[in-house]
Amino acid sequence: MRDLAACAEAVAAAPGRNEKIARVAAYLATLGDEDLARAVLYLSGRPFPASDPRKLSVGHATLREALVQVTGWDLEMIATCYREVGDTGETVALLVRRHTEGRPMTLAQAEGLYTELQRARRTERKVELLAGAFRTFDWMALKYFVKGITGNLRIGLQEKMVEEALAAATGLTGEVVRGANNRSGDLARVALAARGGTIGEIEAVLFHPLDFMLAKPLDAVEDLADPGEWWVEDKYDGIRAQAHIDAGRVRLFTRGLEETTAAFPEVILELAPLAGPLVLDGEILAWREGRALAFSVLQQRIARKQVSAKTMAEVPVIFLAYDLLLWEGELQFGVAVEERRRRLERLGLRHLAPQVRLASHEEVEERFGAARGRGNEGLILKRAGSLYESGKRGGNWLKVKRPYGTLDVVVTAAEQGHGRRASVLSDVTFAVRSGDRFLNVGKAYSGLTDEEIRQLTVLFKAATVERYGRVSLLRPEVVLEVAFDGVQKSPRHKSGYALRFPRIVRWRPDKGPAECDTLERLQELYEASLR
Ligand code: AMP
Repeated sequence: MRDLAACAEAVAAAPGRNEKIARVAAYLATLGDEDLARAVLYLSGRPFPASDPRKLSVGHATLREALVQVTGWDLEMIATCYREVGDTGETVALLVRRHTEGRPMTLAQAEGLYTELQRARRTERKVELLAGAFRTFDWMALKYFVKGITGNLRIGLQEKMVEEALAAATGLTGEVVRGANNRSGDLARVALAARGGTIGEIEAVLFHPLDFMLAKPLDAVEDLADPGEWWVEDKYDGIRAQAHIDAGRVRLFTRGLEETTAAFPEVILELAPLAGPLVLDGEILAWREGRALAFSVLQQRIARKQVSAKTMAEVPVIFLAYDLLLWEGELQFGVAVEERRRRLERLGLRHLAPQVRLASHEEVEERFGAARGRGNEGLILKRAGSLYESGKRGGNWLKVKRPYGTLDVVVTAAEQGHGRRASVLSDVTFAVRSGDRFLNVGKAYSGLTDEEIRQLTVLFKAATVERYGRVSLLRPEVVLEVAFDGVQKSPRHKSGYALRFPRIVRWRPDKGPAECDTLERLQELYEASLR
């Protein structure tokens, strides 16, 4: 763990993505097989593989209680330290320094402890295990051991980068490693297979979410070189979801790869009779009399873990399928869109998105109007003959929204509001992405409900890195969708641009900062507005 911690510290200090990956690759290359399998997980901030059903169930309260026992300080003091430092692993490292024997912790010992913590039923037992570890092991090792528990190393290293480092350390391409991890959700197994030359044998496992294919925006209809090359469907404004189905079992995953099965019992009933193993891609929609209800209606169903019969009757939902990812147990990524569609149609689904072949540029306008008339957001165009590009926004799917549509931006600062909103962080400054930096483009005050503002205030406080009076500077974590009426040049913002009349359309908890829109996109919109 000491070496892993040293590697992680070097990664945190390294300036760019490539340097970070190179550090990890160099470290991985020094490890034996078993430690390699452990290290790739721990560097991804996971005690267990993603597809492993085991969950640690160790919360902040448990960690704090163990700190109380080891340091003799009270909870208030520990909470103050945490507020100052902003990360539980760092807090533990700083506080246990003078209380630990400082013995080295091997990666195997870390695995043993994670397993014991997971198996322990009672909180007291978990506290006891943690306190024992805090008294025994080297504080640097503990720092990263605990970051594994809280699930985020906060060193600017995403799992995708660990995949690339593993590829570099085993002489494979990033694509091959990425594909195997996407299929299996088990980076430890992928690491062993990468070393053993058997990575091609790793198959897709059901009930573990696969990465979704994404759409690029189409700014102007004339940008379509040959309209006849495209299939067209309505763009539905619901929750993108993946349904995994086998032998009467169904599980639903969202675009953020979170499970959402329990929220939609009627969808589970609808899909359970299908013959699996099967994975469908589609949209969960609030639905009445053959058409989708507004997203804000569906939203009432999202926050709930348990759904009452009353809510189910008030906001009925369906799963509208539009793609096929696994069929008769076989992954469909390499099958052309037309054949996937044929197979999808043969399943006899109750709700399947209509699809037609486009003929002309004018037809895009007509169909866009018709889709809007049906209450849908716009159109999605799918290139004839294209494959399912899992995890990519490669341009084989295009989305057509309103001319000035919306941008997904990340919040970089938040400010106390006034009057009724004086106790919450309601005014936000937001940014677009440029490489691995985030550049501000505007500020917005309204558009969220009081409840959303309250929830976001909690997140903003946890993400605060510095405070200047009423303003908190934040780690870029929270993504919002903002609508606006135009893009202007602006010397006041770091990006060089400002959005005109920005307003928050909604909070996008399903997206991370890496998925927000880019400076290039903003520049394109600006250029387009000059034409
Ligand atoms: P955006 O969320 O703005 O990046 O737009 C892309 C999203 O449109 C996808 O992630 C899907 O959730 C959604 N979508 C809606 N209708 C369709 C459709 N017919 N085919 C594919 N994606 C769709």
